[in-house]
Amino acid sequence: MAQQFDYIVLGAGSGGIASANRAAMRGAKVLLIEAKHLGGTCVNVGCVPKKVMWFGAQVAEAVNLYGPDYGFDLTLNRFDWGKLVESREAYIERIHGGYNRGLDANGVTLINGFGRFVDQRTVEVNGERYSAPHILIATGGRPTIPNIPGAEHGIDSNGFFALTEQPKRVAVVGAGYIAVELAGVLHSLGSETHLLVRKHAPLRNFDPLITQTLVELMEKEGPTLHTHSVPSEVVKEADGSLTLKLENGNSVNVDTLIWAIGREPATDVINIEAAGIEVNERGFIPVDEYQNTNVPGIHAVGDIMAGGIELTPVAVKAGRQLSERLFGNQPHAKMDYSLVPTVVFSHPAIGTIGLTEPQAIEQYGEENVKVYTSGFAAMYTAVTAHRQQTQMKLVCAGPEERIVGLHGIGLGMDEILQGFAVAIKMGATKADFDSTVALHPTSAEEFCTMR
Ligand code: NDP
Repeated sequence: MAQQFDYIVLGAGSGGIASANRAAMRGAKVLLIEAKHLGGTCVNVGCVPKKVMWFGAQVAEAVNLYGPDYGFDLTLNRFDWGKLVESREAYIERIHGGYNRGLDANGVTLINGFGRFVDQRTVEVNGERYSAPHILIATGGRPTIPNIPGAEHGIDSNGFFALTEQPKRVAVVGAGYIAVELAGVLHSLGSETHLLVRKHAPLRNFDPLITQTLVELMEKEGPTLHTHSVPSEVVKEADGSLTLKLENGNSVNVDTLIWAIGREPATDVINIEAAGIEVNERGFIPVDEYQNTNVPGIHAVGDIMAGGIELTPVAVKAGRQLSERLFGNQPHAKMDYSLVPTVVFSHPAIGTIGLTEPQAIEQYGEENVKVYTSGFAAMYTAVTAHRQQTQMKLVCAGPEERIVGLHGIGLGMDEILQGFAVAIKMGATKADFDSTVALHPTSAEEFCTMR
């Protein structure tokens, strides 16, 4: 006999935990199943450890690039990668504790084990069966590696977070968030770092001003950017180093190779066929606007859903909205996937929300789009020999100049974006921005003073 619950959540990552807690707060009897650590990708091998490494990189930049011109006579004995990793992992342990206490307080039953579907209402974990009228799939994704000879000699982002020593020479392959962020951190912390992208630039889908500025910054400050570089083979040399051969005939020799070429959904391991849940050709689960799969009572949120946005806060919000709908008497609650702000923790950070300039022109027509830009050296670097540029752009549409896109790369963009995202979500126009008194001297004020 299967034990009965109101709600079974497969996967205790950002989306799963958020949904389980909210359902339990609304009175549901909830079972949460997780095979590894609480917090999933974000907390254990994603956003959280990445941000700690990025903060470490900020300290390195302050010491190496800016300290001397601020009058600090610094003698740096060494950077201890192991110590940074130790501090990071201790922090993650504390987060696990917080999650455990939250689940306990809400009365969520947590089982450590690998859950698989038995049928449309039942899952099995550690040899026991559990049933519920509603099951949420929130098992996320995993990094992919390319199908070329020797690819197994490289590591992925999970492998990066397992590094206990700093690689001296490293190649990062990929052009998305993860490649840009990991290459930036490694470079700032002192590794000889090569970023290899197969087209003309990393982050090609961002506004052209952002992409172009990022490329210029990399050319000036590093990491070494190799464009039009498609990997063809990885050879492990006698000295243990790796030679990454490229289709264009070039090669790079490094100690560590990191693949950051995208992620795939973990739908192939949970016996999804037993429940008859449809997946698309890449294994992602299609859902409707209420997170329903094709099987009534089975839902999906987060990185496993087709056409979603692979961001923690998106999974969290979708998971909570689903629980409000199922157990909170809010029959129309759903996630709004429009105008989702996003930050890339590059060096400096990128913040973006809404349409890029080309997207706005396509949507509204060139004559209906007006763009404002501002470029300057961040004031923090204005007194130092090492100057770092900031670029910002507002994309406005229609006669009322409603702001449909905001993009920036520069010091502090990661913290600047959130407040502007609220304004844009509320429908702010350029006139609203202009009527707001600037905060001086900040980088953010430029968004309110553009001409
Ligand atoms: P992405 O899918 O964003 O980017 C991977 C990129 O690598 C592709 O877009 C492609 O770019 C390139 N690529 C694909 N295949 C190959 C190949 N065979 N050889 C070389 N390059 C290849 O994946 P990520 O793994 O970077 O990140 C996954 C998601 O996680 C992101 O989309 C983001 O939503 C999320 N994330 C968010 C973060 C944040 O919020 N700060 C941080 C990290 C991740 P191209 O076509 O240009 O070559």
